[in-house]
Amino acid sequence: MAQLTDDCFAFSGPLLRLDEMERLLGERIAPVAETGRIPLHGARGRVIAADVKAPIDLPPFDNSAVDGYAVRHADLRSDGDTTLAISGRLTAGARTQVALNSGQTIRIFTGAAMPKGADTVFMQEDVAVEGDHVTVPKGLKLGANRRLAGEDVRAGAVVLPGGTVLEAQHIALAAALGLTEIAVRRRLKVAIFSTGDELVEPGSVRGGAAIYDSNRFLLTELLERLGAIVTDLGILADDPEKLSLKLHQAAAGHDLIVTSGGISTGEADYVRNAVERIGNLVFWRVAIKPGRPVALGVIPMASGHAAAFVGLPGNPVAVFVTFVRVVKPLLRRLSGARPDRVVPLPVRAAFAYKKKKDRREYVRVALKRGADGEIEAVKHPQDGAGILTSLTETDGLLEFPEDVTAIEPGARVGFLSYASLIG
Ligand code: AMP
Ligand code: MG
Repeated sequence: MAQLTDDCFAFSGPLLRLDEMERLLGERIAPVAETGRIPLHGARGRVIAADVKAPIDLPPFDNSAVDGYAVRHADLRSDGDTTLAISGRLTAGARTQVALNSGQTIRIFTGAAMPKGADTVFMQEDVAVEGDHVTVPKGLKLGANRRLAGEDVRAGAVVLPGGTVLEAQHIALAAALGLTEIAVRRRLKVAIFSTGDELVEPGSVRGGAAIYDSNRFLLTELLERLGAIVTDLGILADDPEKLSLKLHQAAAGHDLIVTSGGISTGEADYVRNAVERIGNLVFWRVAIKPGRPVALGVIPMASGHAAAFVGLPGNPVAVFVTFVRVVKPLLRRLSGARPDRVVPLPVRAAFAYKKKKDRREYVRVALKRGADGEIEAVKHPQDGAGILTSLTETDGLLEFPEDVTAIEPGARVGFLSYASLIG
């Protein structure tokens, strides 16, 4: 199940641009191969293994889009009202075969099959009923309020392409087509751990210089939202021997290992070194802020299996940003999903900002309505990468492209909601 090409390639430039990184992932990551058919219920979040073609038309037959009266358009006068005789009644699901003759109309309800000969439906609100006759106004277009067989989906068309991540609406479409199962790729197995001598587990006794580990909780939630099966391997000390041993062990049963902390160039940052001992680094610095030190590697096993490795920085905000910008695209590729379309929405910056050229920067903002009614992005007052409340008190991230160096108040900027980033 090797997914990441393991050769001597390594990114050797100073800082890898995000678009370069995405290209690398596209070139070098092969998705997990194993697939299986599963019931629709429970398929949300899974990745479709192969194109699904529609076995039937949708709708399967011509039917009425409204409650009203089915008519033959050719019967209608163009210069005034037309009076027609009611010759039958069709409710949704009614199986009676009714034909409509000239001069007649049929009482019809939403979803009922169009009677033979009828091509247009008047809404009941638009007609005058008197006994067994209906008077309809002029001017309705041919085919109004009629839904044609196949207007939604044509039998044989690819409606759910391989690589789609199944959401509620995709599952509904599969059900509408009469499918009961869908072929999906297997879920990814991801191991996580935190590194740092200062970390202790929430709930345990905390010494003076210790902090509670939050990154594993952040990562578990983010990974599970993306459909991964997470193995939590706990906290590892800043000890190079132990780190490489644990990484090696974790590589055996997992597609991906994600760690946080210990990846920058401090003296107690041993993770990069540990990976280099047992595998290869593909890159270890990305032109992104927060989060510059982020490593991608591969840990090959004697069995032929290779696990991908991502080492994230330690600061929680940097973990969040590098997760959504590095781990998520990697995970999507590994899982066989098409890359996400991340489209920043234009909003107005309510603040000035300076940034370095040639790196992509992400700024935590809350959305507010300005005095003129336009939506404005307000920067969180604290922008340290360790400030967790800057994530809980905001709505999303502004994305500042590489070539930008300064943002003035009032500038159009691109906003990415947390919901769009982690979903
Ligand atoms: P490092 O990259 O290991 O130097 O860590 C950078 C900062 O992130 C330090 O202040 C660490 O204490 C903090 N940090 C590292 N790992 C975690 C974690 N799992 N939970 C919370 N904070 C962390
Ligand atoms: Mg550390």
